[in-house]
Amino acid sequence: MSFNLDSSTRIFLIRISLEISGSGRVSRNKKTGGVNMSDENRDKNLLDIDQVTLYLGRKQILSNLSMSFWPGHIHAVVGPNGAGKSTLASTIMGLSGYGEFEGDIRFQGTSIKKLTTDERARLGITLAWQEPARFEGLSVKTFIIAGSADKSDEKAAWALEVVGLDPGEYLPRSVDQTLSGGERKRVELASILVMEPALVMMDEPDSGIDVDALNKIFLAIRRLKENGTTVLLITHSQTVLEKADHAFLLCCGQLVEKGEVDKIMTYFGDNCLPCDHKNQPLKEAVS
Ligand code: ADP
Ligand code: MG
Repeated sequence: MSFNLDSSTRIFLIRISLEISGSGRVSRNKKTGGVNMSDENRDKNLLDIDQVTLYLGRKQILSNLSMSFWPGHIHAVVGPNGAGKSTLASTIMGLSGYGEFEGDIRFQGTSIKKLTTDERARLGITLAWQEPARFEGLSVKTFIIAGSADKSDEKAAWALEVVGLDPGEYLPRSVDQTLSGGERKRVELASILVMEPALVMMDEPDSGIDVDALNKIFLAIRRLKENGTTVLLITHSQTVLEKADHAFLLCCGQLVEKGEVDKIMTYFGDNCLPCDHKNQPLKEAVS
């Protein structure tokens, strides 16, 4: 078995270790989906981004960003290419190179700023990559159940069916280059379904996915929410945005707008899609 130890691999290895502790799984009796919440309910927010400013090299990528994510909801973070969406996910996950920033990030009211990626994963924070890694020699079944309390074939098969992959065909296959990027994304999502994390960030869940498969991805996202997982959809797609309960709009690392999906959809369609500026700082005030 050969691993290239990039960040994606590391997250996968963390999923294996989660299986040992069993911590970080969503607690079904703490489900709060559907409850109306406000940013002021800080102790009740699952995740608070508090005035975060982050530089990569000499470039300010995230600028005084404050956002609150409510438990049991599907939040979208939408914005044009280069807005800082993936950087935000990497910063929340605490990946290497994203640990130094101004401001704070709190999970369930407690700062996670000083925690390692592994420690954050143990709290139940996970990330689904825009382009998941390949794992030569590792079977799809092993990959899926690595972070699952239930190691049965049936559980792995159930998760594959949710994401629209035939278990008979896919369980014995390897998570290698013989799977397309879209198939690897769906296998990764299956692994997250059985892991039952408190928070999953999904970076561009529709990239490399055809229309039929995308509906399966949306079904899986609904399953995650029904099970109490808070979902953060990172996207520049209106099709993905409309699956959210609430949205944030980023541009140039700044929060431009937040609120109801319809409002953000209108703003995005009217202002961002026709906009051809490339990473120029916004002049307008941050709401
Ligand atoms: P998005 O995911 O919204 O498309 P990213 O978070 O990937 O945007 O990137 C935001 C900005 O940060 C872009 O201008 C990108 O070029 C820049 N950027 C990303 N990673 C680095 C890095 N390691 N060093 C310097 N700039 C970076
Ligand atoms: Mg990105």
